[in-house]
Amino acid sequence: MKRRKALKKIGIGFTAGALMPGMIVSCSKDDPGPEVPYDGTVIIIGAGAAGLYAADILHSKGISVKVLEASNQLGGRIRSLRNQKEILVQTSADFPVELGAEIIYGNSSAFGKIIEKYALTKIELNTQATEQFILDSQAKSATDWGGDSDLAAVRNFVAALPTYGGGDVSMKQAAGVSPRADALLNSMAGNFYGSSSDQVGAKGVSEALGLIEHENNPFIIKTNPLQDIIASRFSQITNKVQLNAVVKSINYAGEKILITDKEGIEYEADKVIVTTSLGVLKSGGVTFSPGLPAAKVAGMNKIGMDHCVRLAIDFKKNFWGEDSGYIWGATLGPLMLNSGVDRSEFYRTLTVTVHGPKAQELSAMGDGILDAVLAELDAIYNNQASLFISKVINPDGTEGNRIWFLADWGKDEFFKGGMSYLKVGASVADREALAAPINNKIFFAGEATDVKGDAGTINGALNSAERVAEELIQTILSA
Ligand SMILES: Cc1cc2nc3c(=O)[nH]c(=O)nc-3n(C[C@H](O)[C@H](O)[C@H](O)COP(=O)(O)OP(=O)(O)OC[C@H]3O[C@@H](n4cnc5c(N)ncnc54)[C@H](O)[C@@H]3O)c2cc1C
Repeated sequence: MKRRKALKKIGIGFTAGALMPGMIVSCSKDDPGPEVPYDGTVIIIGAGAAGLYAADILHSKGISVKVLEASNQLGGRIRSLRNQKEILVQTSADFPVELGAEIIYGNSSAFGKIIEKYALTKIELNTQATEQFILDSQAKSATDWGGDSDLAAVRNFVAALPTYGGGDVSMKQAAGVSPRADALLNSMAGNFYGSSSDQVGAKGVSEALGLIEHENNPFIIKTNPLQDIIASRFSQITNKVQLNAVVKSINYAGEKILITDKEGIEYEADKVIVTTSLGVLKSGGVTFSPGLPAAKVAGMNKIGMDHCVRLAIDFKKNFWGEDSGYIWGATLGPLMLNSGVDRSEFYRTLTVTVHGPKAQELSAMGDGILDAVLAELDAIYNNQASLFISKVINPDGTEGNRIWFLADWGKDEFFKGGMSYLKVGASVADREALAAPINNKIFFAGEATDVKGDAGTINGALNSAERVAEELIQTILSA
């Protein structure tokens, strides 16, 4: 199984965690709308956040749904280490380690509202953690950097992005910071949005940020794996999901839509919602007959979805600072998070998230990826990374393999990348083109199709589900 190959197994002996029964109860959609009379079947491709939520809404309206999911689990790019039953882990982390999405943006956002409903304990990264910024191979807080003008230039540029009025150029060109701050800019304004700062368009990001209506405070959840939260929220429709069903083609030429999976099994539907990632669509992982309309393909080509890797590295000692949250500005590991901050009596796990060309470079290194990232950490933290990396303790008491995990999202055929982003020259209108339904039969959801400014996030995936459910219901009601 490709998925299993993409998750690196290096440790032993960690019990699979799950929510305590009753801690999160499933909740039914409380939308008061009437049931929609429809005797057709809707098939949804993909059981990530978008597919599950779309299924939940339609099911709550009395519409018959079936979800075909290629992998062996729910959640898509929401994937928690504890839930990977095939990975036996020996890590010091007494909190959930995330292999995909780990941060939630906004209390009143689509995902923030789910968290509020379950009253889960949050760690607010802006107030409960301190950001560290790397310049000259040193990581320091903004206060400790004093009035460093290069740091200020990057932070001011990022803070002003929602009102950016400059040209349609890359983040790198738009910011024009000194070479000393290039890696920091790449980290905060390139990698954070899904690629490198010379690929991500400043105008597109600015337009999207301007559309966001909720506050955007970043937080993590103290004890619950995000994958459990998603599975609990949508527990009413999980029996509608068929796992290990890899859709290869969708033929919508006739009255009924014919879907064929990898095994050659055919499914018939009246309407289909496609939620597979942009990476899967771009690479032709699912083919359409007739082919996709030119406008959709044009939109798709202007949106990027680059390689992405996530490393979680376990250390014996927190040498980067217990209060640290985000650590910005490394070159090989442009986004690091002290993922135990305020969640744990241990603060010894760093997650490293890399998007874009750098992720591709690291992915090609095989196991050398760990040495490369450790070498960079050693340069910043006085050789402490190599010294303090945790190792498996063998039965005879000797130290074995180093404890780390790799999720290579770019190599995984069911994702083919990390998150979508608007390239230079692209705008939210390109996401609208990607989202446009075909013949009132084939509908498109997923984070890349979000038009409310949240693309690239769980919120974007959930927003897109609400939009697509509404579009689909309208076609039924107006038929
Ligand atoms: C490393 C990483 C870190 C991230 N960090 C954050 C973060 O901190 N905060 C945040 O909000 N967002 C983050 N994101 C983005 C977030 O995870 C995604 O935007 C969101 O989960 C996407 O949901 P989706 O439903 O649109 O797509 P997906 O989760 O990709 O769901 C699509 C589903 O379709 C399935 N599928 C694919 N091909 C087929 C096929 N042929 N047939 C059937 N099924 C198929 C897939 O297996 C998958 O389950 C991160 C993403 C990554 C990769």
